[in-house]
Amino acid sequence: MEQNQFNVKLIDRQMLTPSVLQLRFVRSDNLPCKFKAGQFITFLLPHENGRKIRRSYSLANFPEQPYELEMIIAPVYEGFATKILFDLQLGAELQCTGPQGRLILRDEEASAHHILVATGTGLAPYRSMLPTIARWLENNQHAKVTVLLGVRYVVDLLYVEEFLAYAKKYDRFNFYAYLSREKTLSQSYQYSGYVQSAFEMLHLNPNTDVIYLCGNPHMIDASMDTLQKMGFNTQNIRREKYTSVRVVS
Ligand SMILES: Cc1cc2nc3c(=O)[nH]c(=O)nc-3n(C[C@H](O)[C@H](O)[C@H](O)COP(=O)(O)OP(=O)(O)OC[C@H]3O[C@@H](n4cnc5c(N)ncnc54)[C@H](O)[C@@H]3O)c2cc1C
Repeated sequence: MEQNQFNVKLIDRQMLTPSVLQLRFVRSDNLPCKFKAGQFITFLLPHENGRKIRRSYSLANFPEQPYELEMIIAPVYEGFATKILFDLQLGAELQCTGPQGRLILRDEEASAHHILVATGTGLAPYRSMLPTIARWLENNQHAKVTVLLGVRYVVDLLYVEEFLAYAKKYDRFNFYAYLSREKTLSQSYQYSGYVQSAFEMLHLNPNTDVIYLCGNPHMIDASMDTLQKMGFNTQNIRREKYTSVRVVS
């Protein structure tokens, strides 16, 4: 048994969009699971050859709710974990390890303009960060946060009401959605194209701004390329690529 290994039990499941599944778990031993906003857990999924396949998922709920683990899962065609997780019934138990991950906010950087960029379910870590962001905005007059979400269509938008409520409440919080395939835009927060096309309009400062990138590896590579050309140093860019780990244990 690995360190930090525990079982979780499914207590709720619902479709958040036509394709994205939201799962909520509790620990089977009813203990809290302490984590930092932005971290993920890794399921150890049983394979027919008797080994375990590892698949990681970001925690989308707030660390202030440590008795629950919420994840949002995009289906991958013929994906191993996709099949198991989309078929999972209430009460089912899974093994997992964690939480872990370094895509976390740093209090000492609260004064910097943070640009949090996601494609699809890559929004999960930023949703988890919302209470921390609220504290920053309320206690630090220089704090500023811009969230950029890239999806294909309006129906694919995740947690949009929550992010828009933050944008309404806080002057220094902005939320923009980039829709790569939608033909008509109906709201002022919606833009056409890929999410990384926002960098130009944001008038970023490579010396002081901090960028977080999460989700599709192609978006992250394209963003890195653009940001480095704009003068960003890699230490001001934090990344989490959503890829499958090939290792079995
Ligand atoms: C730190 C971390 C956090 C993550 N958090 C999340 C999360 O919160 N939500 C979430 O939905 N996913 C997340 N992922 C991705 C997740 O771990 C799996 O990789 C994903 O669910 C696919 O697993 P699978 O077993 O269903 O597909 P696999 O069996 O691994 O893949 C099946 C086939 O699809 C290809 N493939 C794999 N992933 C993709 C993809 N994204 N797009 C297109 N083709 C693909 C593979 O190369 C393979 O050919 C995260 C990954 C990491 C590393």
